[in-house]
Amino acid sequence: MCGIIAYAGNKPAASVVLEGLKKLEYRGYDSWGIVALADNPESAENAGRSFSVIKRVGKIGEINWDYVSEAIRGESHVAVGHTRWSTHGGVTEQNAHPHLDCSGKIAVVHNGIVDNHQEIRSGLGSHKFLSKTDTEVIPHLIEEIMSKESLDFVAAVRRAANTLKGRSAFVAVNSETGQMAAARKGAPLIMGMHENSNEEFFIASDVTAFLDYTNKVMYLDDNEMAVVDGKVAFFNLMSGNELVKRIVEIHWHHGSTEKEGYDHFLIKEIMEQKSTLSRAINQDDAKLLAVANEVKNAFGTFLVGCGTAGKTCVVGEYLFSKIARKHINSVVASEFANYQHYLTPKTLMIAVSQSGETADVLEAIDVAKSKSVRVVSLLNVFGSTMMRVSDDFFMVNAGAERAVVSTKATTAQLAVLTLLAYATAGKLQEGKLLLMNAASAVNDMLNPRYEEHIKKLALQLVDKKDAFIIGRGLNYPIALEAAIKLQETCYTHAQGFAGGELKHGPLALIEDGTACIAIVANDETKQDMISNAAEVKARGGYIIGIAPENNEVFDYWLKVPDVGNASPIVSIIPVQILAYHIAVLRGINPDYPRNLAKVITTK
Ligand code: GLU
Repeated sequence: MCGIIAYAGNKPAASVVLEGLKKLEYRGYDSWGIVALADNPESAENAGRSFSVIKRVGKIGEINWDYVSEAIRGESHVAVGHTRWSTHGGVTEQNAHPHLDCSGKIAVVHNGIVDNHQEIRSGLGSHKFLSKTDTEVIPHLIEEIMSKESLDFVAAVRRAANTLKGRSAFVAVNSETGQMAAARKGAPLIMGMHENSNEEFFIASDVTAFLDYTNKVMYLDDNEMAVVDGKVAFFNLMSGNELVKRIVEIHWHHGSTEKEGYDHFLIKEIMEQKSTLSRAINQDDAKLLAVANEVKNAFGTFLVGCGTAGKTCVVGEYLFSKIARKHINSVVASEFANYQHYLTPKTLMIAVSQSGETADVLEAIDVAKSKSVRVVSLLNVFGSTMMRVSDDFFMVNAGAERAVVSTKATTAQLAVLTLLAYATAGKLQEGKLLLMNAASAVNDMLNPRYEEHIKKLALQLVDKKDAFIIGRGLNYPIALEAAIKLQETCYTHAQGFAGGELKHGPLALIEDGTACIAIVANDETKQDMISNAAEVKARGGYIIGIAPENNEVFDYWLKVPDVGNASPIVSIIPVQILAYHIAVLRGINPDYPRNLAKVITTK
């Protein structure tokens, strides 16, 4: 899950890496570290080169260059940085990356998990380990292979990479040779450079880390490595054969990655939904119709995602059923392998992920591909692994989403799925009109008065530990998504249910003043939803109604526009704002929820 950025070139390397790390912080933010290969003219050792390492617990966002430069002795032209989301070993400075071998000449940063780290560690008995991480076995293993098998650094990195099990990627640097080697085995790494020039090279977990410097990239695929040594060369990890790679130019305007006057990225991104929806629906008609045709002809279509994107998929299931009379299965990506017995070459998978790097979804795609299933992705990050491994893809065009909690990418995914459902029903133009209307209604809705009204509700809810959210039909999965929003943003224990389900158990938990959000769309579910809200109220529940019209059962009304089948898009927005304001009132930084990271590249 972490972010990696490595640089070799004529700029001050540690400063380039520091700026890149700030852009990657959303990927992991429990601790960070930088290793720089400093030119140290006083020392004859290693041709005057030595490592400077800085590691800290906490976020990198506020760290300035002076602080880092104090720790980096001498000028550096090669540096590697890492922002961590710990999987093995607590959040401590010792466990932060980079990790070094015993000689201190090999430094490694790593993303993912080394599944066989215990086995490797026990085979490295004479080595001195300083951390509790799985990662630390990598530099020691490289050192061991270099000394025992008399291999050079690059060959040893290759051998070590082939020994590792599990999904990961790492970058290793050698202070003696100044070489940098990167290996990809299931976690993303992208190389940035300039055409016909060997002046500078970047290696990063995602392009945003270096897009300010270059938009020319070469993609590393799984089981490949790159070696930077004044020039760059690519190799297949297994065969060792050199690979010829194409430079790809990225023309992707991912939008601003700054807060632009807002206190947090989260509220900025919520407000950006004024314009992101119109961009999301600006899709190529021919492609929409072609994929709609595939849905019609497929022998089973699966919608696959995790977390919030997983809930978007459940909305998709309802949308296709209601609008196109088409049954589609939505499956949580980490469970998809259990469905492999039903897959045939005529099956279609629609995979949904903001980052396009979610490990669980990538694994599901691997399963699908092994059964010759066609895969179409919905993505927000151009150039991501999912984009490259899918047969076709739609960009949802929400722009860079920096807050860990997904908002504008979610509603953009919902918009594209709604379009696809209408296209499948042969009513694409009707779907477009509906969504254009919804986009302009969201634009009107997101005004300061609306936010103020929700803020007042946040003040009432700030001391409440629990919340229940209910919805039916298209808004049942939105109740599930609303629960995720409250859990991850403000740590409220929230649970979403289908309106009809409370009486089968959860109603026992309702006490005087228990908060219950009822999503009541103006559709065929309205009357039943009002009855379900009344059942909660009769037991003392405090009812917050999200609805186009007020109702006497509501204790607090959050008005949303009546936008027909696009109602999931507008229903989630007040919950996003509510969760944000409760978080702020509780003193939680809503951009960086505890224990989470945005891009989940571990299983
Ligand atoms: N497994 C490694 C650790 O816990 C890397 C985690 C990451 O990807 O940030 O340090």
